[in-house]
Amino acid sequence: MTQCAQCGNDYAHAFEVTMAGATYTFDSFECAIQKLAPECGHCGCKVIGHGTDAAGTTYCCDHCAQQAAA
Ligand SMILES: [Zn+2]
Ligand SMILES: [Zn+2]
Repeated sequence: MTQCAQCGNDYAHAFEVTMAGATYTFDSFECAIQKLAPECGHCGCKVIGHGTDAAGTTYCCDHCAQQAAA
């Protein structure tokens, strides 16, 4: 069985993602992002790029990190 960990879809071409020692199976990158991507500490969007870390919080961009610090 290859069931998506996010939506439960049973998909033949599912793939696995290992993060912090836990392995998840997903049917799409969209589901992987929904479950695993951190949220920006300022605007709340999913951080799917490199992002920026400031004071232990992840932000989607420098602008958000600066807005949160201000
Ligand atoms: Zn899914
Ligand atoms: Zn942001």
